[in-house]
This record gives sequence, C-alpha cells and structure tokens, in this order.
Amino acid sequence: MTFNELHISESVLKALGEKNYITPTPIQAKAIPPALDGTDIIGIAQTGTGKTAAFAIPIIEHLNHAQHSSNSKREIKALILTPTRELAIQINDTFTDYGKYTNLKHTVIFGGVNQNPQVRTLKSGVDILIATPGRLLDLLSQKALSLNNITHFVLDEADRMLDMGFIHDIKRLLPMLPKNRQTMLFSATMPDEIVNITKTILCRPVRVEVNPVSSVVDVIRQNVFFVEKPQKISLLITLLREQTNKTALIFSRTKHGADRIAKTLNSRNIRCEAIHGNKSQNARQTALQNFKSGKCRIIVATDIAARGIDIQNLGVVINYDMPDVAETYVHRIGRTGRAGNGGVAYTFCSQEEHTMINSIQKLTKKRLIPVSLPA
Ligand code: AMP
Repeated sequence: MTFNELHISESVLKALGEKNYITPTPIQAKAIPPALDGTDIIGIAQTGTGKTAAFAIPIIEHLNHAQHSSNSKREIKALILTPTRELAIQINDTFTDYGKYTNLKHTVIFGGVNQNPQVRTLKSGVDILIATPGRLLDLLSQKALSLNNITHFVLDEADRMLDMGFIHDIKRLLPMLPKNRQTMLFSATMPDEIVNITKTILCRPVRVEVNPVSSVVDVIRQNVFFVEKPQKISLLITLLREQTNKTALIFSRTKHGADRIAKTLNSRNIRCEAIHGNKSQNARQTALQNFKSGKCRIIVATDIAARGIDIQNLGVVINYDMPDVAETYVHRIGRTGRAGNGGVAYTFCSQEEHTMINSIQKLTKKRLIPVSLPA
C-alpha cells in the first residue's frame, strides 16, 4: 500500500514525498482511514511506529479542508497533549513537515521556559496546539487561550502520562473540551486506568494495534557482553572506536553515571554529550540539536531524560547499565529499529545484573547473543 491509496490531499502527499515516505507504516495504514472518516481512535503503538503521522495527517487534512470551505477566525481547533517537552517538540516538527504546503498554523507550549513567547504566538492565532499538561493548565488559568473551539483532541502516550503523574491534570482538562469532537488516544500499553479513561473520553472508537513487543525487537541485533563494572568503560571506548561512523545512544542508570561516562569519553577525544534531568532544558535541547545536526554522534542519557526523544537512524543503542525493568530495555533498544530499519543493541551485563537478562528474554521471547570481550 502507498500513501496515494489513502485519499490524502496533494499538499500532504507532496510533503511526504519530500521525506521519501511512500509507504505508510502499519499503524498509519490502520489508523488513517478511520481517522479521516472522523471516527475516534484508540491506537496501541509505541514510539517509533510512526504513530505521530497517524494522527497528524488526518488532523491536517480535516483542518485544511475546513479552512478552505470557510473563512472563520483562526482559533485552536486541534489539541495534542503529550507528556514530555521533547515529544511535544517532535510532534510540532511533524506538523511543520507535513503541513508545510497548507496555511495551517501550529505551535507548541511546554513548561521550564519563559511563557511570554508562547503567549505571543497563541495571541497571533494558531489552528493546532501541541502541549504538555502543566503549561497548558497554567496558560488556561491565565486565560491566554481557549479550548472552546476544539474539534480534534489527541491524548498521546497515555500510559506515560499516567506514569509521570499527569492523570489529575488530564482529568481537570477533559471537562474544558467541547463534547462534539474527534478524539484519538495513543498508548503503548493499556493499564486499567487508561481503559477507564477511554470509556469516558472516546465515542465508539476503533481500536488499532501494532507491533507487539516481539516484532519491534525482531529487526534489532541484540548482543550482550558479560563484563564487570570496572571494565565497562574500556569496553565502551573500544566499541565506539570500532564504529566511528555510527550514531550511538548510551544508557546510564544514574545522572552521575551519565556525567562520568561523558567526561571520560570526552577526555579520550570521543566527543559526546550527556543529557539528564539535572541539565537545563536549554542544555538538553542544544545537546539534542548537536546530535541531530551531526556535530556530535554520541549521547549518554538516563531513561527519564531519553524518554520520548526521537532520533532517526540511530546506529547503535548501548545499555551501559542494565535497566531496572525489562520493558525499559525494549523502549531503549526500540530506538535503533525505527520504522522497520534494523539496528544494533549492545548490553553490558555484570554479575549482579544477570537476572535481568532472563526477564528481558522472557518478555521479548528472544535470546540475547553473547559476544566475547575484545582482546
Ligand atoms: P513516531 O513513532 O511517530 O515517533 O515515528 C517514528 C519515526 O518514523 C520518525 O522518525 C518518523 O519520521 C518516521 N516515519 C514516520 N512515518 C514514516 C513512513 N511512512 N515511512 C518512513 N518513516 C516514517
């Protein structure tokens, strides 16, 4: 199947073509047709499956069409709620990409930065708003925006919203939305609390599901080194020196550990950036920008900081420390197998981390391949 067959307008097709996106990913193929029909959607899909375009394309199509057929004032018609700033920025970039040949305006608001530029942009009029819950509630209480004209509402990464404690914020927001709207909820997993929310906010939804955990990891070569803690850093340096042209994301369990790894690598002339919660939003964004532009090919991150970061064509994911839970392992390595492209993951496992290997293998139903340490 190609995007041509999904009855998408020329303007969006052109933008997709420029990115060389010809074939929809499975979640796009399943979600776009009912979403274009105006049906509510429950999408069970992880980051990396192409889910952003699955909701962004139908929203652009609807609003673009509505804009052509009326000359109504520019008001916020679509609201996309997402848990992290990084995800919000990526979703905003997706709207920039696919909406570039339309007249639609969109913007993103999130906390941790000065609100004034965000308020100014809102005042100038936007059609699509991407927001994290806290800043949205803040600006709503200041009457800097109104949700009265929302026709499209997306709750993205609903399970992470729950994990991150945003559930009360969301429950406060829901009554502020007009009842007559299209709602799309995306979540990688469906815990009971999310199922309950789907019952209250969606109306006769279609459920679309892709990529059970095992198929995400099927395309990734998963190697494990049995290595004790003191030897991990020299193994890392050897691996990074062998793969000089690959981008790498290295996971550390702690912020302090991430800093220590980054410091050692930089002192050995392996340029890298560390991102974690102790760094300012600006420092994190600069690090990400340097990585995306190719200035720096290696990032060391903690799980929390890496949450939601979309980095395309990641060459390798290195688990310097084992994650605390097996699901996190799948989230981590999923970054190297984006949109069906195979990738490589290396996991460093010390004696005390052995039991986690069993949990991971049980979850993924796949064996990690032991690799001997370089001589
Ligand atoms: P997402 O799950 O929305 O974060 O998307 C994962 C990655 O897949 C992003 O880097 C997208 O740019 C990319 N992507 C989305 N749709 C397609 C497509 N149809 N073909 C190839 N890549 C895609």
